[in-house]
Amino acid sequence: MKTVHILKTNEDMTVPKIFCLGKNYAKHAAEMKSEVPRRPVVFMKPSNAIVHDGAKVKIPALTHDMHHETEIFFVIGKEGRNIRREDARSYIAAMGIGLDLTLRDLQNELKSEGNPWLISKGFDGSAPISYAVPSDEVIFDSLELRLSVNGKPRQQGSYRNTIFKIEEVIEFISQLFTLERGDLIFTGTPEGVAQLNPGDRLHAELVGYTSLDVEIV
Ligand code: ZN
Repeated sequence: MKTVHILKTNEDMTVPKIFCLGKNYAKHAAEMKSEVPRRPVVFMKPSNAIVHDGAKVKIPALTHDMHHETEIFFVIGKEGRNIRREDARSYIAAMGIGLDLTLRDLQNELKSEGNPWLISKGFDGSAPISYAVPSDEVIFDSLELRLSVNGKPRQQGSYRNTIFKIEEVIEFISQLFTLERGDLIFTGTPEGVAQLNPGDRLHAELVGYTSLDVEIV
């Protein structure tokens, strides 16, 4: 487990688990030539994937095609299992903006072989995160995300366009996994994912709340 600074104002937190959602925006599912899923597509990253605002992330030697995916993440504040969606918000402590860095060439190869895509998504540095904002300071339904690379706009999205909302996701995941304080849930990327190159500077925002700067090396 990794101990990280999640909340600017708070003590350090350990992150037991990182859940991520795939294909949670219809236009991204379309650009991946995938169907919109019937239930949440859930995968995990190990906590070594986390790096903070200001990090430099090295492109692993195994890939020629590392992509950015800009995603809103939620921080679980207390333990729970079999959480009903109407109670789910009380389990959310905070939220922020993160990147689900993906080795697309490797992921496509693994998918076509029917193999797990862990190594294309869970490598060191694959989950840069901003400081998170306490959930009571945030209006959920109007959350907007943005990414620029070297000052040029690359991705933007609205939380209201997610297919599975966080309450439903918490209900679904917690039927199978005990949620623990410090768990993170990444909620998927909107369209516009693209390749990154050494020297690229990424600026991701949860608009009006918090932001994240990462340099690719
Ligand atoms: Zn993603």
